Amino acid sequence: MNHAHHQLDLTNVSFHYGNKEALRAISFSVHCGQRLALLGPNGAGKSTLIRLLAGLLPPQTGSLLWRERPVNQARREIAYLPQVDRHQRHFPIRVRDVVAMGRFPHLGHLRRFRPIDRAKTAEAIETMNLGSIADHQIDQLSGGQQQRTYIARALAQEAHVLLLDEPFNGLDVESRCHLSESLFDLTQSGHLIIASHHQLENVTQIFTHALVLDHTQIAFGQAPEVMMDENVKATLHSCHPHDHERVL
Ligand code: ADP
Repeated sequence: MNHAHHQLDLTNVSFHYGNKEALRAISFSVHCGQRLALLGPNGAGKSTLIRLLAGLLPPQTGSLLWRERPVNQARREIAYLPQVDRHQRHFPIRVRDVVAMGRFPHLGHLRRFRPIDRAKTAEAIETMNLGSIADHQIDQLSGGQQQRTYIARALAQEAHVLLLDEPFNGLDVESRCHLSESLFDLTQSGHLIIASHHQLENVTQIFTHALVLDHTQIAFGQAPEVMMDENVKATLHSCHPHDHERVL
């Protein structure tokens, strides 16, 4: 699949919870093949932005367009991956059933699986190397395995855009390496990756672009340039003297 020309455009996006402002005047464009890190101190608006992009919050001001259509009309093409949490109590469900859920937006109202739905599910399980654990319950998995399951669900959905909320949190070193490779492979195969992220020292290794938020937009651009920006350094380092401890 090559969707390199498929673009996400945000123009002057603001969002308030009641009278509390979470985001003000966010504008940027990214396209398939890119990996965008959302950076900013706690409470900066990263999750709010992800939820707006996922169509889980209604837009209030400005526009969020995917391929020139409002994102909430393009939900089949945009997949939201939940945070992994090994201690979360999941509904008992097997890996292959979670992946198969990616086909739901493609099914008719009878929800009957066709051969194409089975094939896409099997292909996603194979791509994310989940064959040996496809019959395991999701809550028996490690954080890295859960992450791969959710990515496989997004692949089964045939989503072009993957939104991830702090995907590297709670993973061991090996799983972080695998996830980083998976994100690279996904963009090579034409996906757009957008992830909130906390580990400042590896942004330029993992992501091509970065958006720095602190309610307003502090910086946006190619990751190496953004990370050199003095305003960015001030925003990301001064507010969070303990971030380095969280990384270790
Ligand atoms: P981040 O993900 O960067 O930590 P959030 O998007 O979660 O930031 O939060 C942005 C701001 O909006 C914060 O000030 C937070 O307290 C506020 N906020 C987030 N969710 C809600 C909510 N459901 N109701 C009211 N305020 C909220």
